[in-house]
Amino acid sequence: MEGVPIQYQTKIMIKHLLALSITVLISIANQTKAQQTIRCGTTEVMQQYSAKHPEYVQKRAEIESRILDFIARGQAKGVQQQIVIPVVVHVIYNTDEENISDEIVQSQIEVLNQDYSYTNPDKGNVPLPFQQYAADCQISFCLAGVDPSGNYTNGIIHKQTAATEFTTEDKMKSSNTGGDDPWPCEKYLNIWVCDLANGYLGYTFQPGADCSIDGVVIDSKHFGVNGDLGGNYNLGRTTTHEVGHWFNLNHPWGNNGSNDQCLDDDGVGDTPHSPGPNYNCKNFPNNVSLTCLNSPYGDMFMNFMDYSYDNCMYFFTQGQKARMVAAVNTSRPSFLEFTNCTVGVGEMEINANKISTYPNPTNGMVNFSFQNELKTQAFTVTLTDVLGQKVYSIHKPVSQHSVEIQTLSLQEGNYFAQISSDKVNVVKKVVVIR
Ligand SMILES: [Zn+2]
Repeated sequence: MEGVPIQYQTKIMIKHLLALSITVLISIANQTKAQQTIRCGTTEVMQQYSAKHPEYVQKRAEIESRILDFIARGQAKGVQQQIVIPVVVHVIYNTDEENISDEIVQSQIEVLNQDYSYTNPDKGNVPLPFQQYAADCQISFCLAGVDPSGNYTNGIIHKQTAATEFTTEDKMKSSNTGGDDPWPCEKYLNIWVCDLANGYLGYTFQPGADCSIDGVVIDSKHFGVNGDLGGNYNLGRTTTHEVGHWFNLNHPWGNNGSNDQCLDDDGVGDTPHSPGPNYNCKNFPNNVSLTCLNSPYGDMFMNFMDYSYDNCMYFFTQGQKARMVAAVNTSRPSFLEFTNCTVGVGEMEINANKISTYPNPTNGMVNFSFQNELKTQAFTVTLTDVLGQKVYSIHKPVSQHSVEIQTLSLQEGNYFAQISSDKVNVVKKVVVIR
């Protein structure tokens, strides 16, 4: 500060000090916020709701008894039918950052499908003694292809709100309170993604709650596979966990919050009793000496219903599967008749982005180039004119990432290329010019 008058030097120093204190304050505030992370608000939210709604307590007791009866009669074991759950995701955002992309939503559906079918890439981390219990739950998820009015949809709603954050009071579940109304709960799993206040990552009502609040709520930073934004909870496992509650699963230590830690249980035989949640990322075996005398291997902290970091939880058990299948059969039976999963325009759009068509318009060759997972799938590309007449067809084998169609013999005009496999169906417009 040579040459600067002394009073200005003081001013500059004060300015720097102020800036420094603000930075320190912000970082303390952030740390405080980080320390408040609450893995799951389900137990607390359900307790508060139950206190005000005795009919929910009654209904929950009936549901529990029906589920136990269903399992006792061995019916869950006999059910081999794949259960498919149509999902509608309500993205409620105030800032651009909260308006998560369709790709992130799509990544969440993929995580759910992997985790519930035990095809998750990290399943090899299940400790050997627990591997015998791991289950393909035979439950899969799709983004809804048809909305409640019968129109095509991609199952994703983006809605801006004036609310800067939401608490666990369910205001995100109604348009009147700055959120978005649910789709009929007997036909869709409603997931609201929004800025959840007070450090909650997510919460859910187990079956029996009123349709207007039934569903799952997830904080927008912790939905889908979202890189750095989600910190230790960035692999979509918050949703895997909360959807487990939606299927009536409990935490391994039970949901009643009893002080006698080994009295409570999750109602599942093959998850060891546990004195309480496991946080962070434990090493196996953990809690062998403290655990409730029922497992030589300690807590099953790597189960999706515990509180570990996203990259440290890997599976549901056969017992949890039986409970979920029983819950669908007894409490959510309409999901056994799957109707709203039809591949709709939305999914076509997402897949269409993975196929580029160039040059378009063209006066000669047109190239169809496939990206991501579509690269290694076989497709048939069929070109039709505006009257629906087939003018060309070509097969793309799994070994080829692109195919070309020669348009020299075609008249000028618009054509439609239907690009289809057994899983994907996309239509693209091709313009031929002369
Ligand atoms: Zn939970």
